[in-house]
Amino acid sequence: MSDRTPHVPKPGVKIHEVVKYPEPVLAKVAEPVTVFDAELEKLVEEMFESMYLAEGIGLAAPQIAISKQITTIDVSYKERPEDKLVLINPVILEMEGKQTEEEGCLSLPDIREKVQRASWVKVRAQNVKGEYFEIEGTELLARALQHEIDHLHGILFIDKLSRLKRDLVLRRIKKLIKHGEW
Ligand code: ZN
Repeated sequence: MSDRTPHVPKPGVKIHEVVKYPEPVLAKVAEPVTVFDAELEKLVEEMFESMYLAEGIGLAAPQIAISKQITTIDVSYKERPEDKLVLINPVILEMEGKQTEEEGCLSLPDIREKVQRASWVKVRAQNVKGEYFEIEGTELLARALQHEIDHLHGILFIDKLSRLKRDLVLRRIKKLIKHGEW
């Protein structure tokens, strides 16, 4: 993450603060988007800018305290324009295989743990205009899709860990909170 050139935000675009665990909005099921208007387009742009500034490759609206089914993903972090994705009301249609890789989350800074995910997923979502589309992903994209869609259902990656590992992570966070380092 540190070898990335710092993102220069677009002027005039609002930057949202990313909320951290245990902010209650992160544990809520997000509301479906029903209105596809200029305001939604503006919010999506703000999400991309906020995500890039936080050096993330994925952001879900609940992470900026907006409980709506919107996620922005860019697994190549601005390298390949075709990687820039907006998924509104996304649903996983199919998944296959297994992959276990280290995962992190902007809402859980400095916490990285190995998480098992499907190695391939097929997702249906809407774009900012409300049009439906399908996308398939493997490797990092499959992981990002599952991670972000989980956010929209109030699930964090630490919820995917074994009970023992999860408890250890939660204890570590508690300590950091107590010392004002979270
Ligand atoms: Zn996350």
